[in-house]
Amino acid sequence: LISKLPAQGTSIFTIMTHLAEEHNAINLAQGFPGFPCDPHLTDLAAHYIKEGNNQYAPSIGIPVLRKRISQMAELMHGVFYKPETEITITSGATEALYVAITAVVKTGDEVIIMEPAYDAYGPSVRLNGGVPVYVPLDENDFSIDWDRLEGVINEKTTLIIVNTPHNPSGYVWKKDDVDHLAKIISDKPIFVISDEVYEHIVFDKKEHYSLMRNPILRDKTFICSSFGKTLHVTGWKIGYCLAPEKMSKEFRKIHQYIAFSTATPLQYAIAAYLDDDSKYLELSAFYQKKRDIFCEGLKAYTPFKFTPAEGSFFQTVSYRHLSTENDFDLAVRLTKKAKVACIPNTAFYKDKSDLKVLRFCFAKDEAELELAISRLSYAV
Ligand code: PMP
Ligand code: GLN
Repeated sequence: LISKLPAQGTSIFTIMTHLAEEHNAINLAQGFPGFPCDPHLTDLAAHYIKEGNNQYAPSIGIPVLRKRISQMAELMHGVFYKPETEITITSGATEALYVAITAVVKTGDEVIIMEPAYDAYGPSVRLNGGVPVYVPLDENDFSIDWDRLEGVINEKTTLIIVNTPHNPSGYVWKKDDVDHLAKIISDKPIFVISDEVYEHIVFDKKEHYSLMRNPILRDKTFICSSFGKTLHVTGWKIGYCLAPEKMSKEFRKIHQYIAFSTATPLQYAIAAYLDDDSKYLELSAFYQKKRDIFCEGLKAYTPFKFTPAEGSFFQTVSYRHLSTENDFDLAVRLTKKAKVACIPNTAFYKDKSDLKVLRFCFAKDEAELELAISRLSYAV
């Protein structure tokens, strides 16, 4: 068999989670909540299973859930998407991203990805015969280097992938960023994917400024997101894509041959749960408390350098001033010795060896975060 992804091994999230389990370490590596979701949500799921909603859902998703997502977008951003033609339910954001990439990318097309980047983008582009073109974000604050980005756009560029709030840095796109992107591609046949899975997790009263809010981008963008992070159910893999009708039509064609549809009772449970908007409106405050506890601990008890994340549930830290050890080795050592697992940030780059940055997930109970800090304080 000739590999279609010769440069790819096992995902760093799988590697670090296995290592954490093997060494009985606190898993601040793979991004998932370390606490249960609301029991009301699991009661709803049990209810819809027992009621017999156990056969295929419509391929595009159940109408009531598409309607809820439309209402959520309107409430958050004042932008209307037609549930019938512009919203599709997928098996997680991962499927939404893959389908959107497949809809757009043909052999030889170039796709701009800003680095560091979530690990799924590059391989999904390659599997479609596309060529990922990596543009580095600012090393210190992870803002966008617009000159560099504009400099790589050419007639082969068909797609730009955006992620806000950003994994792993937590950077949240500002209105100026969104408008700038719109300006540079307004007269070009370039599409955009905006991965907004952390859309409801932003701190210090900042706002998540979705790309849908810019009318030029509203017409060119696949907004991909997921309920995994929003409702603390990463294992449910219920995601969604909002895109203009013409783009959604192609998206839906491909989705029907990749997943066809996704878990019916879980779609009903989420739709019923979202009758109450506070479920996602209160998420930023919920996670801000955890970010603050984790960052205060890091500052008081570890020598790491960092700027508190603006959004997402990740905190990156630099140890360049402490050691020359590479970040993978340090992450492994911390998992084995300190019993705290994290992600080495080189995993978010195609090719970078001199990085001295680690990513910690703070979506954990306060006691677990405090224990992790105390273990790190002895080890670093
Ligand atoms: N995009 C980003 C930036 C992520 O961090 C993740 C992981 N949750 C995903 C996409 C995948 O989301 P899902 O689990 O819904 O497939
Ligand atoms: N999004 C999660 C992270 O960044 C992991 C998802 C996965 O394991 N593929 O840690």
